[in-house]
Amino acid sequence: MTTSTVATKAADMQGKVTTFDAVVIGAGVAGMYQLYRLRQQGLKVVAIEAGSAVGGTWYWNRYPGARVDSQAYIYQYWFSEELAKEWNWSERFPAQPETEAYLNFIADRCDLRKDIRFNTRVVGARFDEATNRWQIRTDAGEVLDAKYFVSCAGMLSAPLTSTFPGQETFKGPIFHTARWPKEPVQLAGKRVGVVGTGATGIQVIQTIASQVGHMKVFMRTPQYIIPMRNHKYGDSDRAAQKEGFQDMRQRVQRTFAGFDYDFAGDSFYDMTPEARRELMEKVWADGSLSFWLTLYPEMFTDQKVNDEVSEFVREKMRERIKDPVLAEKLIPTSYGFGTHRVPLETQFLEAFLRPNVEIVDVKASPIVCVTPEGVKTADGKIHELDVLILATGFDAGSGALTRMDIRGRGGRSLTEDWNKDIRSTMGLMVNGYPNLFTTAAPLAPSAAFCNMTTCLQQQVDWVTDCIQYMESHDLKVIEPTKETEDKWVEHHDEIANATLVTKTDSWYMGSNVDGKPRRLLSYIGGVGTYRQKCDEVTASSYAGFRMR
Ligand code: NAP
Repeated sequence: MTTSTVATKAADMQGKVTTFDAVVIGAGVAGMYQLYRLRQQGLKVVAIEAGSAVGGTWYWNRYPGARVDSQAYIYQYWFSEELAKEWNWSERFPAQPETEAYLNFIADRCDLRKDIRFNTRVVGARFDEATNRWQIRTDAGEVLDAKYFVSCAGMLSAPLTSTFPGQETFKGPIFHTARWPKEPVQLAGKRVGVVGTGATGIQVIQTIASQVGHMKVFMRTPQYIIPMRNHKYGDSDRAAQKEGFQDMRQRVQRTFAGFDYDFAGDSFYDMTPEARRELMEKVWADGSLSFWLTLYPEMFTDQKVNDEVSEFVREKMRERIKDPVLAEKLIPTSYGFGTHRVPLETQFLEAFLRPNVEIVDVKASPIVCVTPEGVKTADGKIHELDVLILATGFDAGSGALTRMDIRGRGGRSLTEDWNKDIRSTMGLMVNGYPNLFTTAAPLAPSAAFCNMTTCLQQQVDWVTDCIQYMESHDLKVIEPTKETEDKWVEHHDEIANATLVTKTDSWYMGSNVDGKPRRLLSYIGGVGTYRQKCDEVTASSYAGFRMR
């Protein structure tokens, strides 16, 4: 290497500095919309996207069987009726390629790609108190200087890919579901291991069971499930959806979880057991998450109510699994229904009736490591495999941000702060990190308890309004005060701790990641309530936020 190339490389490492009004992380559902809204305001904006195309979750999660479980007509953007009327969903719960195609259609029609840097990852950012601006570093060695730094990095975008020691020694391929290759993966006739039976593992297992030679499902915690009732849409369905666009747009903003359905309003205790049974049968037959999110609000707080619903679901599962030994493995008893994410499924239980599918109980005998031949469990057995699939989930909510080196006032580190205690102001901003806005971050419904498109658009709209306010009032900095943040965290915890959700281990509580502080990641006071609280902040010209 010549002296001049060394000098050039050194200069590259320091990074070329480009100036923007706003830098957005991510080009998924939220990032695309944030880019669109800020660009509409006339700001100079760039979105930084690690993938090679738009889509976020729907770009990365292309594993077999990946499918949305919100109904298509509410899993969409609301900013343009024209675009909504142009797009035709093919079925109630579309598969990943269709949702990815929809997001590409929006990117095309809004001409978003010209302001997105693909194949680029934000690795760190520092707030400069002298200039009141963020310096954001990418893995391309570039520094982006911006007044506003908006994270649309996603709540489930930090996959737990290195779960077991020895993974690097395995002779075959290992795929984490959120890093599934674009090229076809040959599973036919292979000995395949799947670790994990969350919403993802379930979709994978039910889809590949009939394709693989033999499948070992390494199962630690069985899941309550709801059978998905999917169906193709006809022209009349689509016409009705388009006709109802404005009503639906209003409706989803005010329900408990951002879906079009909501609690019926009947109290569990005002109903006879027969009436409750009738209600459960009726809602169960809908084959959607409505069984989880519309029965009775008390199901989330009252053990007796939860027990009755849990037993109903167990009964439904037992009807499908007659073998008592298998039923014991597949039907949960150690936690209550709906206290973590409930998956929709299609013939998931029946997959285990196939002769080529086997459960390995890794609660009784945990996975110790991966060896060149397969997976070794604590009983000393080596489970020989050709392919290993990790459906082991994510460092949810906070992981996308803590994996970057984000430094706020006085050089404080968001990673260090959140490794001690995960706090935020409404999931939208964090005290100590001026002009940093976050979507899908902890302590907002968008961290879990929401139809994501509803909540992400609401948060992007809030951020956009806030930035517009700052620009029109010639303000340089906004930051929630410590008191405001403390009040929000206290309010969040009070609601969360009254629920049964906090008693169950899952990614909702951060308990799937060693050492992660335990707190319900998602605000559970309801999407409508949350929106109202956000709107109050805007209406008060940001009371509780320091602006100058
Ligand atoms: P997850 O719910 O966190 O499930 C991870 C699974 O891996 C669990 O079964 C877990 O067992 C298991 N696991 C992790 N580490 C393990 C270990 N060391 N040994 C054995 N088992 C281990 O992750 P996910 O299934 O990817 O789902 C995450 C979220 O993505 C969902 O809750 C949902 O919000 C979203 N999602 C949505 C859709 C959709 O809309 N259709 C589809 C898929 C996913 P334990 O339970 O015992 O920890």
